[in-house]
Amino acid sequence: MGIYDIVIIGGGPAGLTAAIYACRAGWKTILIERGTFGGQAAITDRIENYPGFAEGISGFDLMQGFYQQALRFGCKMLVAEVTGLNIHPGLGNTDFGQGEQIKTVETTEGLVQGRTVLIATGAQARELGIKGEKEFVGRGVSYCATCDGFFFKKKKVAVIGGGDAAVKEAIYLAKLAEEVLIIHRRDSFRADQYLSQQVLTLPNVKIRWNTVPLEIRGEQKVSALLVQNVKTQETGTEEVDGVFIYIGRKPNTDFLGAGFTRDEEGYLLTGQDLQLATPGIFALGDCRVKSVRQVATAVGDGALVMAAVDEYLRSKKEG
Ligand code: NAP
Repeated sequence: MGIYDIVIIGGGPAGLTAAIYACRAGWKTILIERGTFGGQAAITDRIENYPGFAEGISGFDLMQGFYQQALRFGCKMLVAEVTGLNIHPGLGNTDFGQGEQIKTVETTEGLVQGRTVLIATGAQARELGIKGEKEFVGRGVSYCATCDGFFFKKKKVAVIGGGDAAVKEAIYLAKLAEEVLIIHRRDSFRADQYLSQQVLTLPNVKIRWNTVPLEIRGEQKVSALLVQNVKTQETGTEEVDGVFIYIGRKPNTDFLGAGFTRDEEGYLLTGQDLQLATPGIFALGDCRVKSVRQVATAVGDGALVMAAVDEYLRSKKEG
């Protein structure tokens, strides 16, 4: 395979955008993805705030467009899980400046070497950590309404959380389920006003404010959720067939091991050019420290990072 100019880890909106720019600019590029090209966005029912689609668009269709565009510019795609990233001194290859740090990406399909590595691994659902959660995954507990909502047609489900994801997915589930119960630990949503107002108009959505889940119960499948009002300390049981957990996300950066600067939650710290403290390694999209994590900002990162990557690669080639 040789040494790539650019190795992109992660095929969500950020990684695919970087791939489009990189390949269009003529850099030898490989993109490594462990699961679904398009990432979390590809399993989002509808995306309404991505510009250019006046009526909204399904996440899958939008991400297919990104993927096909990267392929059209000749991006090499590898389906594999990345398990580590090592940096070692230049190999003395005459194509590269002497002393350039070549990076080795360990994957389940073997080693991939690159002059630069772009980490675009995104984030995944955070777990509640309550009794019954792990036990009932796939048997009533879910982190993806678009994937599993269908199984709860005409049933009663609980959605945990009050952010954009929880409210958006509660609106989606309300179209399928008989009743949706939002369990939120405070007395107002974190979600934006548009979503918050929309959910409040739905007749089959009920909200339990100031309430936290304590335990998920059932026999073969989920049948109830034990909850507690944080103001009165009163506990109670809600009879539900499903529990959808949307309490935020955690970055997929564990594979990096020590030596990369992260915040306390594991998000990667970059400079304004999205480069890490290690030259030639960049982070983009949801896995880095940033204030807004949406498809539009991931796309912005993908375009932005390529200016710095271009400069890095050209300076090494000239040097
Ligand atoms: P989020 O904004 O961090 O919201 C997490 C929610 O879960 C909050 O309401 C939080 O309560 C609650 N929570 C956290 N830990 C909890 C616990 N242990 N027990 C009970 N509740 C808990 O996460 P998100 O909704 O996944 O969104 C992540 C990012 O993606 C955000 O930047 C969001 O804007 C973006 N996003 C955007 C859209 C869109 O359509 N625009 C859709 C999905 C996601 P508190 O409010 O009390 O902290």
